[in-house]
Amino acid sequence: MNDSACKACVGAWPRSDHFIADCRLTRAYLHEDQFFPGWTVLVLKRHATELFHLSRDERSSLIEEVSVVAGVLAEEWRAVKINYELLGNQLPHIHWHLIPRLAQDPAPLEPVWRITHEPTRLAPDTLTSRLERLRKVWPGLMNHSPLRS
Ligand SMILES: [Zn+2]
Repeated sequence: MNDSACKACVGAWPRSDHFIADCRLTRAYLHEDQFFPGWTVLVLKRHATELFHLSRDERSSLIEEVSVVAGVLAEEWRAVKINYELLGNQLPHIHWHLIPRLAQDPAPLEPVWRITHEPTRLAPDTLTSRLERLRKVWPGLMNHSPLRS
């Protein structure tokens, strides 16, 4: 069930040109700010605002999906750490920010929200190649995980 007042439900966020792939319970997008390379957002396909609103099975599958995608991002970007952010203050629709933190991170002890920076918007050709690179690893991900229903 979708909520017509919700930006995620109506497709107003994240940007559709940043769409990576469909997972089982979520859709994956590159975040439009790539200051932290590989910053990805997983948006639940149905409207829900809290983890405790999900069924136990749905919640279990979701955390599995988040974990598998995080593993792919960690490998792709050789991340030192993945940050998992599920806030929903600004957009109350379950969406997970998965943020690879790399060796050259400007402030590795801080959450990304506290690091002042100019947003990095990818040039169209860079965006396209980054999405294609991720899609190449996504099918393997879908075949070897519970993401496939
Ligand atoms: Zn929604």
